[in-house]
Amino acid sequence: MDPMQIAACADASGGVIRTTALRSAGATARDIRRACASGAVAQLRGGVYATPHAAADVVTAAIHGGALCCASELARHGVWVLDASRVHVALGGGGREYPHPGCACVAHWDGRSPGYGRVDLERALVQLARCQGPESFFAAFESAWRLGLLSRRARMRIRARLEARHRHLVDLARADADSGLESILRLRLLRLGIPLRCQVLIRDVGRVDFVLGERIILEVDGRDNHDDATHRHKDLVRDANAAALGYITLRFDYALVLHDWPRVQAAILRARAVAR
Ligand SMILES: [Zn+2]
Ligand SMILES: [Zn+2]
Repeated sequence: MDPMQIAACADASGGVIRTTALRSAGATARDIRRACASGAVAQLRGGVYATPHAAADVVTAAIHGGALCCASELARHGVWVLDASRVHVALGGGGREYPHPGCACVAHWDGRSPGYGRVDLERALVQLARCQGPESFFAAFESAWRLGLLSRRARMRIRARLEARHRHLVDLARADADSGLESILRLRLLRLGIPLRCQVLIRDVGRVDFVLGERIILEVDGRDNHDDATHRHKDLVRDANAAALGYITLRFDYALVLHDWPRVQAAILRARAVAR
């Protein structure tokens, strides 16, 4: 095999490939040496090669000893993930970790070894529930559903693979959550026993994130838009119109919901008492 054929083999398996796979595709040891010398592939470790096209986090996972998974793999699909700052690596039941400089990987030992490359999306979601807990899973699950990545069958397969204590989250999930933050807020309110309506259209106000009871509007601002002056002005106009209609608007952002929940909860509970 020439170097380009060897690179094509590696690209077909996610950018990273083992010697054994190259050998069974017909490459000789000499072919592999030539491919390395020409720069078509680079050796990551004895018996493991990557092409220059391989994604950096897939390469990091392979250097660590496994496949990209969990939060890292979900983030690659554009799924909302609470924390994807570290590389999550699936090693499978019999995997082996390798030390490497700057390693901050999160290792996963579930199921059979996925080899290198990436795990499938369903496995990544099941891993996330164990790794980052129910809220992070719920937000990512709703995000993946909204992106059209989860068929009904896929959702049921994921439900069956989750731990029993997490299965109800699949039953609570919706396909129309606007952001992960909104998903988390909705889950917390459901757990407090607070009934709510989502994505409600109110005349002269527009579509709001939640309505609690008859008079409380609850809005959550995502990470990207709260510094924008035009956006802020539009929000103020909405709030004024809502107030004129007799609504109380509560507005929370990422930092409040995720890092200061007691304050948010106290505001919501008090507003409900006043509205009644
Ligand atoms: Zn590592
Ligand atoms: Zn993880």
